[in-house]
Amino acid sequence: MDFSGWEKLSLVDYDDNITTTLFMAGCNFRCPFCHNRDLVLHPEHAPTIPWSEIMEYLKKRQGVLDAVCVSGGEPTLMPDLEEKLRDIKSLGFLVKLDSNGSNPLLLRKLVSMSLVDYVAMDIKNSKKRYAETIGFKTYDLSKIEESVKFLMESGIGYEFRTTMMEEFHDEEAIKEIGEWIAGAKRYFLQLYIESEHVIQTGHTPIPKEKAERFLEILKPYVPNAKLRGYE
Ligand code: SF4
Repeated sequence: MDFSGWEKLSLVDYDDNITTTLFMAGCNFRCPFCHNRDLVLHPEHAPTIPWSEIMEYLKKRQGVLDAVCVSGGEPTLMPDLEEKLRDIKSLGFLVKLDSNGSNPLLLRKLVSMSLVDYVAMDIKNSKKRYAETIGFKTYDLSKIEESVKFLMESGIGYEFRTTMMEEFHDEEAIKEIGEWIAGAKRYFLQLYIESEHVIQTGHTPIPKEKAERFLEILKPYVPNAKLRGYE
């Protein structure tokens, strides 16, 4: 399966690493605030980028780029993700994987094979409000819980992150997330920015003052929690 989007140079995706970011089309969630509407809802119409083109680019940039970020959609749905990560790793790049955490089995496998160096996993909301936040009426959270537990115990670099909106996130939800991921290494509360590319418009960002209150609620559970996008 080919990737469908490519941001050739990014300085913000993976700490201080100079990164190239690949996007695959398709996702098993339907978060109404998702910025990749076309990739998620119409993967069959998404462009395809030949893998050979990406590999050529990477070969020419060994020693210049540090890392490849594999994003989506939901990249763990790619049938040949493992092979692609092997190709990337054979060139010596770090790999960051963005995931919604719905495939803990593959996550575990990729980490155990050292094909991934860092995982950024979304925590969409408290367990109570998870289903509505990913666009469903109900959702079995067991796989998400398994991914959270795995990452926290794995020793690999990881972060959890929540993009916050007035419609989904309140103090109670934030406290429940804190209790859930207590002791997490890194957690970011992210500013939502609406665009015309979201699945459903009409969501409201959390203002900075309120986001700072959320952070205070989180601190007893995740002392290292930070805001992102509010700078
Ligand atoms: S925000 Fe992420 S998990 Fe949600 S629909 Fe979009 S790509 Fe899928």
